[in-house]
Amino acid sequence: MTIGLKGPGLYIQGEGELDKLGKYVRKMGHTFLLICSPNNQKRIGGRIAASLQQAEKTMVYYQFGGECSKAAIQTAVEAAQAAGCDGIIGAGGGKAIDTAKAVGTNMGGLPVIIIPTIASNDSPCAGVAVIYNEQGVVVKALMMRRNPDLVLVDTGIIAGAPKKYLISGMGDALSTYFEARACRRSGAKTMARGMCSATALTLAKLCYDILLQHSVQALEAVEQHTVTPELEAVVEACVYLSGVGFECGGLAAAHAVNDGLAHVPQAHGASHGEKVAFGLLVQLQLEKASQEEWDTVLRYIRQIGLPSCLADLGIVDIRDEDIRAVASASTVPTQFTKNVRADITADEVYAAILAADTAGAHH
Ligand SMILES: [Zn+2]
Repeated sequence: MTIGLKGPGLYIQGEGELDKLGKYVRKMGHTFLLICSPNNQKRIGGRIAASLQQAEKTMVYYQFGGECSKAAIQTAVEAAQAAGCDGIIGAGGGKAIDTAKAVGTNMGGLPVIIIPTIASNDSPCAGVAVIYNEQGVVVKALMMRRNPDLVLVDTGIIAGAPKKYLISGMGDALSTYFEARACRRSGAKTMARGMCSATALTLAKLCYDILLQHSVQALEAVEQHTVTPELEAVVEACVYLSGVGFECGGLAAAHAVNDGLAHVPQAHGASHGEKVAFGLLVQLQLEKASQEEWDTVLRYIRQIGLPSCLADLGIVDIRDEDIRAVASASTVPTQFTKNVRADITADEVYAAILAADTAGAHH
């Protein structure tokens, strides 16, 4: 059996850590391209520039336009080349971060520094960037030469962001353990080029345990815009454990159903984490999970305010052809549903979606 483990070179998390950025990147380059939206530039650009300046580093700002497309990546590469950048910083929620990963990779593997401004998904620590076309449709997943050299999470910034983002991050992190466990059982290959190791499974389980224990208090902290030990624990779960957990532990039906839901326009308003949370309920149906496990997950989903049924995702008018489309997209050969069981059919997923919807609906 082969196992593989990968993760960011350095992970830093804490309140006020952004102001120490210059210290952490001392050996990572001299001139950095900062890729972020005008909003985030206003919010934290000054602090990033000041910290880099203190360390005698130079920063060049590249205004991110909102889409991680081939064209946007190419323009950013040219800006980095023109300014002689030897390091790339991506700050934001998802797409700006992925653009930074792609720019660093396409420039021969320049050091990449990721600064998440919200904890809404499992991507910051991962060595993959999702590329879209100009219409916002996924084109491909670009594998980086290596994971980001530094992921720096300032919990003060996360605490200052709207609560809905952390709720999404919790939904994404909730599935990590169950997807890793499915891969462990089936012997599936992970993005870390091995099978789900004992290490990965343990990290994924820790992620789940932290969520169950501290999520309610973490959300209260975000409502007050304060950093508490509970918030710090949950941010570690949502950003580090969920990211390393999915990359080294593997993905399964929960993420496949999330991808499949892209085919239903009514669900377009739902976030990645919200769709993954419902996808987990579908996976538990496929796995015929114990009643106790189902009850625990459903209770959590409802307590946090994640979707437990199709209506919660925005699918109020349940059309048979839509659910069939989700089921068949989740079971194409490239999808992760096979990591639950190799021979799962679209009909089984279709039935599991409806069963999850019925059992998760509010009565
Ligand atoms: Zn995810």
